[in-house]
Amino acid sequence: MAEIRILPEELRNQIAAGEVIERPASVVKELIENSIDASATEINIEVLGAGKRLIRVSDNGTGMDREDALLCFHSHATSKIKDKEDLFRINTLGFRGEALSSIASVARLTIKTCKKGMDTGIEVSVEGSRVRTREIPYRGTTIEVKNLFYNTPARKKFLRSDRTEVYHIIETVTETALTNPAISFTLRVDGKEVLGLTAAEDIRERIHQVFGAEVVSSLIEVATPDLTVYTSREDRFNPRRINQYIFVNGRPVKDQTLRSAVYRAYENLLPRGKHPMFFIYMTMDPEEVDFNVHPAKREVRFRNSEFIYKRLYLLLRDHLFKGTGSAAAMQKGEKREGPGPEITAIPGSPQDGQGLYSLLEEPARYAFPPFSSLSIGNAFIAYTDGEMLTILDYHAAHERILYERLRDSDDIRVSAFLFPRQVRLSPKEYEIIRDHIDTVRAIGIDMDEFGNNVFMVRAVPEFLFNTDIGQIIRDIAKSLIEGGRGEFEAIRDNIARTIACHSAVRAGHRLTDTEVRELLRELENCKDPEHCPHGRPTRIKFSPDNLRRMFKRR
Ligand code: ADP
Ligand code: MG
Repeated sequence: MAEIRILPEELRNQIAAGEVIERPASVVKELIENSIDASATEINIEVLGAGKRLIRVSDNGTGMDREDALLCFHSHATSKIKDKEDLFRINTLGFRGEALSSIASVARLTIKTCKKGMDTGIEVSVEGSRVRTREIPYRGTTIEVKNLFYNTPARKKFLRSDRTEVYHIIETVTETALTNPAISFTLRVDGKEVLGLTAAEDIRERIHQVFGAEVVSSLIEVATPDLTVYTSREDRFNPRRINQYIFVNGRPVKDQTLRSAVYRAYENLLPRGKHPMFFIYMTMDPEEVDFNVHPAKREVRFRNSEFIYKRLYLLLRDHLFKGTGSAAAMQKGEKREGPGPEITAIPGSPQDGQGLYSLLEEPARYAFPPFSSLSIGNAFIAYTDGEMLTILDYHAAHERILYERLRDSDDIRVSAFLFPRQVRLSPKEYEIIRDHIDTVRAIGIDMDEFGNNVFMVRAVPEFLFNTDIGQIIRDIAKSLIEGGRGEFEAIRDNIARTIACHSAVRAGHRLTDTEVRELLRELENCKDPEHCPHGRPTRIKFSPDNLRRMFKRR
């Protein structure tokens, strides 16, 4: 008997929903994007019970007629693309026709809508496979989503605290509002208005509405036809990574490459542990960018990402280093013009080849006296400064250096993957990493939940660039499971130790004199240069006195 079967539509949609609808905020995102695609100028969002009880989005857009209202919640039902060509020139936010069907498969859905210009509207209620309709007078469209994940308890269990889910909802509406200044938004959470944004004249005014006058006055504006950036003035940085937004063709994206272009532009201006705020708006030919990479469209793939990196970097660097009169730059009407399209190569951009141990590849910056070392037994190195004889366990030493860097630095140098890496974990590993995701991010591993026990890793500390990141994350999970729960610092310490152990140079790796010198220089800067993170010695020193005693010369 055949064992393969085609899954029924309901189950198919539930599986698809796992990718599109991760949490209540995903529902909010899909619904308000639909309202925007329907040319709404007013969008009102109401949320009860962190979105698990109710999410209601109302708009004054074009609405749907009866036929469309009955089609829209089926899978692959969309009015936005017709053929393959359309897929490569998308100018709506939606196009996959998956959102409403996914939502309908994991919640109770009610649609009230009326096509503009028509007299009667329709109310459609969908619950599982049961659909009820009735005619009603209506204007615009309201979509109500009740009892989210009522029939997928596993999903529901994975939701975070109500506070966290509400935070994601606010963030979602904020992001959308930041690219659609002409649209008015209200967001009510459990009856309380948390965002009330009237139509704004431009993006600057919208940033003002959302973040207030103080934030606006700390930004400079750089505007070119296809790239507009509001970014922190040279003297106004944050101790945390907040208010960092990147939008491409009106969509918020998390793109580590672009983010690192900003940080690189601030190089030498940014004090350690400080972060700029930025709002980056890019427009490009839809053919230059692919949003069909991630079901929730959080990721983009650029046809020429190096060009875009350089474009952003050069634009910012140019304006940051001009550095005069920027305080006035956000005054109305006063914009700085961006440079033309000439692009020069930037050494060290994330696309450049990355070595395994960037630590060892940095040129030695300190002049050491002439130096030579001897490799002993595949694990040790002997050297002398003419006085002492030192035997170094180079794996242990490197471990100490990486460990302190991961544990203490606020500003670990990271490299972004051109294409994010997927890491699949066991459910238990997935859960523990999820619980500690902030700590994992703090040490420079930029990753997001992708659902179904998969994380997407976008960037890692430079020295992990060519390693097996999946294995490292599994090791972190293992040590967290064994180590139990604790304070942020203890957790970070634990993770730092795991990674350091994993990525330090192995015994058997031959180091050049330059590499040894660099290693020693870094070791000297450590708080505890004498021990590896496990407490074993990194080096043993013999003074002439020690040697005399050992040779029984006294
Ligand atoms: P997509 O947005 O990818 O097309 P969705 O499942 O989100 O898929 O929506 C399916 C269709 O339902 C849309 O293509 C659109 O025609 C219609 N629709 C959804 N929401 C609205 C709305 N608020 N106003 C008008 N039409 C809507
Ligand atoms: Mg949609």
